[in-house]
Amino acid sequence: MDDPRAIVAAKRDGRELSDGELEGFVRDYTRGEISDALAAAFLMACLLRGLDERETLGLTRAMVGSGDTISFSGLGSPTVDKHSTGGVADGVTLLFAPLAAAVGLAVAKLSGRGLGHTGGTLDKLASIPGLRTDLTSEEIRSQVAEVGCAVAAQSPNLVPADGVLYALRDATATVPSIPLIAASVMSKKLAVETDLIVLDVKAGSGAFMKTPDEARELAERCLALAVGWGRNASAAVTDMSQPLGEAVGNALDVAEAVSILRGEQGGRLRELAVLFAAGALERTRGMSGEDALGQAAAAIDDGTALDRFRAMVQAQGGDPRVADDPWSVLPKAPLREPLLAERDGVLAAVRAEEIGLAAVALGAGRVRKGDSVDPAVGIVVRPKIGDRLTSGDPIGEIHARDRDAAAEAGRRVLAAMDVADGPVDPPPLVHVWI
Ligand code: URA
Repeated sequence: MDDPRAIVAAKRDGRELSDGELEGFVRDYTRGEISDALAAAFLMACLLRGLDERETLGLTRAMVGSGDTISFSGLGSPTVDKHSTGGVADGVTLLFAPLAAAVGLAVAKLSGRGLGHTGGTLDKLASIPGLRTDLTSEEIRSQVAEVGCAVAAQSPNLVPADGVLYALRDATATVPSIPLIAASVMSKKLAVETDLIVLDVKAGSGAFMKTPDEARELAERCLALAVGWGRNASAAVTDMSQPLGEAVGNALDVAEAVSILRGEQGGRLRELAVLFAAGALERTRGMSGEDALGQAAAAIDDGTALDRFRAMVQAQGGDPRVADDPWSVLPKAPLREPLLAERDGVLAAVRAEEIGLAAVALGAGRVRKGDSVDPAVGIVVRPKIGDRLTSGDPIGEIHARDRDAAAEAGRRVLAAMDVADGPVDPPPLVHVWI
């Protein structure tokens, strides 16, 4: 390859990169032959100058080509993969995978770790004692055949380029770029050959794309990559103008997912997981919308989705008791401070990114590349936009290691919530299906 600095300089100066340049740069960085400093400059140049559709496809192809691909032919059930572009209290995958398995679909999913202010499915799952996400391609294939679902990390064999670029983007403020997110998400989807890819593209204060229009552009860029690959995909632009569920952390998110799967909690997180599972049934089995929604909701109500969750945890080496009594196995923070509403009124707006950052500051996410996350800490915040609050009422909790950290997180969360006098309409859960 040419001097890699010339490739960075070319993008810095606004030139289109060839497929060969993208392939060479990604290959050499993945092999450790290009420094983090130069790769960070490359990412920043891509973020500031942009990559067009052809370059995004070239980058994605280079990332997929950095490892193996997995095929699921001969499974007998339609295979589905799902991905979110990242949000706050976004535990949809923890629900979707077992739920879709419970309705007869086979889910094979490569997930990511926390990125910026957003949580990552792998960090959440890793809070379950013993659970492994470093599955080999063969382990993923056989687990999907036996259990119906597997959620794993990219690995030295599967899209290793995303593993290294993802961690570097997290550490260098180079996440919120449509082509970089599209290539990262789709490289993990295209390396796993499923019948359907379902994309949850988040829009709002807790997402990387702050408006539905930007999110739609990201969704269209991802779908164009799927089409370029000859793959069947659908996308929804969904609301992230407030935390989706109530838990912002790792063990806390797992406990929330279990409580939804046990039928003990409703709300927008459950609703979105059911909508995605129903959408996948419609597209792969040709069911009507109403029948698909009924079947997906019933799989939570009759416990079959919880059963698939337990089986998935067990197959990946985790303690299956998490499905019955989560806090008997999940790590708990030493301190749990109540969060109290500061005034009477109606919740009008939430700066969800700030709540995600408050959770990162507690230790639930990474500040520097390679940092470990604290599985026990985090934030529970219950009210949703449009809910009435009464001063002094408990609206959540801060789970922290010490009092100062808890106080600072509580202050940030309350400051991130605008309370108004009049009625406020809740935002739609789904802006648009594409
Ligand atoms: N999810 C990913 O896998 N990659 C991104 O860049 C953002 C969200």
